[in-house]
Amino acid sequence: MRFITYLLSLLLFITFAICKKDYYQILGVEKTSSEKEIKSAYRQLTLKYHPDKNNDSKAHDKFIEIGEAYEVLSNKEKRKNYDTYGDPDGPGHGHGHGDGAHGFDFGEMFGQFFGGQKQRGPPKADNVQLNLNIPLKDFYTGKLLEFDVNMMNSCPSCDGTGSQDKQRHTCSKCNGQGSILVTRQLGLGMIQQMNLQCDECGGIGKVVKHKCKKCHGQGIFKGPRHYEIYLRAGQPRDSHHVLNDEGDKHPFMEPGDLIINLREEFDKSWGFRRVANNLYRTEPITLHESINGGWTRKIKFFGDEEGEDDYIILKKEKGDVIMDGDVEIVKGKGMPIITEDDDVELFGDLFIEYKVIVPGGKTNKKDISKDEL
Ligand SMILES: [Zn+2]
Ligand SMILES: [Zn+2]
Repeated sequence: MRFITYLLSLLLFITFAICKKDYYQILGVEKTSSEKEIKSAYRQLTLKYHPDKNNDSKAHDKFIEIGEAYEVLSNKEKRKNYDTYGDPDGPGHGHGHGDGAHGFDFGEMFGQFFGGQKQRGPPKADNVQLNLNIPLKDFYTGKLLEFDVNMMNSCPSCDGTGSQDKQRHTCSKCNGQGSILVTRQLGLGMIQQMNLQCDECGGIGKVVKHKCKKCHGQGIFKGPRHYEIYLRAGQPRDSHHVLNDEGDKHPFMEPGDLIINLREEFDKSWGFRRVANNLYRTEPITLHESINGGWTRKIKFFGDEEGEDDYIILKKEKGDVIMDGDVEIVKGKGMPIITEDDDVELFGDLFIEYKVIVPGGKTNKKDISKDEL
């Protein structure tokens, strides 16, 4: 019976932990549970999620969460504060790890199990998006793309600290927390707590004593950064190329990523339209050509093998009749298809739709992409 109860509570724990971080739910205990029950739940859960027995990071996170919940619920004062104010440190206190007088230091525990890995690293700054407009030809052949991006860079003079001595000191107003917990009385016994950004350090938790002269204490400066990325032949339009951690540098945040959006420059498509791996083209022919045949078209194409230009040849024998709207498929003259194996060369197809131009007819000549070469 006890085992079933445990299973049920574990199930509850799993269900609720996903939704909301609640210390009682994390331990699978009730608000009315005794110290003994809490301790027992904690023991069972730590056995299950102990890092010695689990290699996955989910179990590690769970284990940390369990420790966090137990740290609060096993301490009478913290539990009371948590029940009353939703904050183990009570009203008017910052979100620190307490004074450590209760013999349980969560940070220390974390350090022991995970080799001193930092749990709360600096936040990551926003990613930077960059659009590159690329002619269809380059999507076809592949190309080394070189470009400069104007971004925030780390100041070399102060190593990005903004400080002349390259040191940043803990803010005395917020004790390095970056925020100050403010409690407001809302009446009727209701209390609202808000974490306000520290005005002394601007929420950073660190202050600079002597500002770096080069960057005026900013730690960063705006300037161009040069990149080279390889566009693969057949790379889909509007796909992304991600350069990890190459976003704007920031003195107090991990840089975000630089995300390059590979757009197509539609006015440089030479009259071809790309749809996935295939190419489409509208080819205007005269009424005479449509009825009588006997003509050849040489259309410049994207490939250029050994310096030789590449052409699509459309050829009709005398007497070949083409109707308006007829479609001719040129096999293998579509876009290159990216495959797992670099040695395999696959291409889509080219679809040519013929448009018969009737003199004085309804065809709107502006729609026809003739001589776009
Ligand atoms: Zn501060
Ligand atoms: Zn500087």
